[in-house]
Amino acid sequence: MSKILVFAEFQNGKLKRSSQELLQFAAKSGHTVLGFALGTQAGTANAELAHHGAQEIHFSKDASFDMYNPELFTAAASEAITKTGATIVLASASSTAKDLFPRVAAKLNAGVISDGTEITVSGDDVKVKKPLYAGKCFAMGTFENAPVKIVLMRANQLPVAPADTAKTAPATEHTFAAPSLKTIIKNIVKGTSEKLDLTEANIIVSGGRGLKEAGNFKLLHDLADVLGATVGASRAVVDAGWVPHSMQVGQTGKTVAPSLYIAAGVSGAIQHLAGMSGSKVIVAINNDPNAPIFQKATYGIVGDALEILPKLTEEFKKALHH
Ligand SMILES: Cc1cc2nc3c(=O)[nH]c(=O)nc-3n(C[C@H](O)[C@H](O)[C@H](O)COP(=O)(O)OP(=O)(O)OC[C@H]3O[C@@H](n4cnc5c(N)ncnc54)[C@H](O)[C@@H]3O)c2cc1C
Repeated sequence: MSKILVFAEFQNGKLKRSSQELLQFAAKSGHTVLGFALGTQAGTANAELAHHGAQEIHFSKDASFDMYNPELFTAAASEAITKTGATIVLASASSTAKDLFPRVAAKLNAGVISDGTEITVSGDDVKVKKPLYAGKCFAMGTFENAPVKIVLMRANQLPVAPADTAKTAPATEHTFAAPSLKTIIKNIVKGTSEKLDLTEANIIVSGGRGLKEAGNFKLLHDLADVLGATVGASRAVVDAGWVPHSMQVGQTGKTVAPSLYIAAGVSGAIQHLAGMSGSKVIVAINNDPNAPIFQKATYGIVGDALEILPKLTEEFKKALHH
């Protein structure tokens, strides 16, 4: 039996859904599942890691890990993998993990596959499916002669069952050797939104140039508040300065796979579709019946988004309050 180490990530002190997915997936593999967490929240999160399937927890609650520093994290993650003897490492394809794990792989002479959308672990054999060329085709990746196999999976690709709060796991606190740092991160300026990050969101309402002006994004925010959704955008409106780049969905923005994606006034250019075509249900609102987005949409509404969005918000309010 091998050891699978799962890199746990948090948002607002809670274990991210993407980390829950990976722990639960690993727990079904027949291997020993190690939860690995860094930062002050790590100590308090141990129970949560166990509830989702970790059989051992390895952590450091050193406050120096509260802000991501590539050198510190690379040293700690590499040491944890070596010390625990883990041969498979799972992390979500977050911006942190995509920066961190290629560095770890270089240090440990390990293999790394990122942006996985499907994964199978059979014995020590790990197979990963990942999109190429902005989703135009897929590649199946395997590892050869890699002492450690690192896979970064996109969020919302694996099922999550409710946490089993009866489960517990022994926890080991580590003191990792700190390298002499060439880079010091002084501050990370977080976005003001309390909403879930786009890549984690289960429902997304996105707007494009068809919304006519920045102020009309309020209509999307109103709908998002009723649905518990996160607001996204096309590149056209990001380039126009209506919303920040952190809200952009697509080839040069974020890749998302929510259960429900509502696109209002978005044409459905190939570069936008590259970021959201993995959504389970797509609802498009567009006044042009020939807009390309309708070819991908599960449901289409032909009409003026500025009229339809407030109506949807009212109807959802009524439906969800009853
Ligand atoms: C290298 C590269 C990378 C790119 N990366 C991305 C990316 O990551 N994400 C991305 O989104 N784009 C990306 N693009 C840009 C992409 O090609 C499109 O230009 C962009 O997605 C268009 O945005 P849009 O749909 O909001 O605007 P438009 O193409 O202008 O479409 C607006 C739509 O709104 C509809 N509309 C107008 N009025 C209304 C109304 N009142 N009610 C309802 N509908 C209305 C119109 O019919 C139209 O379909 C990239 C392009 C390149 C070249």
